[in-house]
Amino acid sequence: MDLYSKQVNQLVEELGRLPGIGSKSAQRLAYHIINMPLEQVKSLSGTILSARENVKYCKECYTLTDQELCPICASDKRDKKTIMVVETPRDLAAYERTGKYDGVYHVLHGAISPKLGIGQDDIKLKELIVRLRGDVEELIIATNSGVEGEITAMYISKLVKPTGIKVTRIASGIPVGGDLECIDEVTLLRALEGRVSL
Ligand code: ZN
Repeated sequence: MDLYSKQVNQLVEELGRLPGIGSKSAQRLAYHIINMPLEQVKSLSGTILSARENVKYCKECYTLTDQELCPICASDKRDKKTIMVVETPRDLAAYERTGKYDGVYHVLHGAISPKLGIGQDDIKLKELIVRLRGDVEELIIATNSGVEGEITAMYISKLVKPTGIKVTRIASGIPVGGDLECIDEVTLLRALEGRVSL
């Protein structure tokens, strides 16, 4: 009996370390998992393990992929001279859902946040600068419109200005603090089309 409860406790504890999972949710999930058919649990844990082992950063844009290059960077239909800077792969997915953007992306994996102690070296900024040495015409900054997103946009703009590359920022039709992935396609498209030079 001791062993049994120890294992349940461990499961609850590990699930509780996931973002957005409080201790109540962790308990609910743990008991759910214990009652799932064994095959389903094996499939779930196998999928988690294989995703963790095989998914890596695209060597161009740093989105998540299981190939060297993500499908967007690998496509010859995409305009490699236009790079849109986003904070997360989920933001990238939001723009892809509009179906109207044919440039490529650069995923920062975060934003500069003095409050959270996240500096310019903690996100994929150096990697962006390296990419800008190539043939790039426009850099569209599509970081979120919250404080961190704005600080990051200003920082990138200052950094890129001397290179002569055109820098634009998506229009502020996006609610302040709005998460890009929660915004509908029409609003995103409007923000993209209404982008302004920095
Ligand atoms: Zn890529």
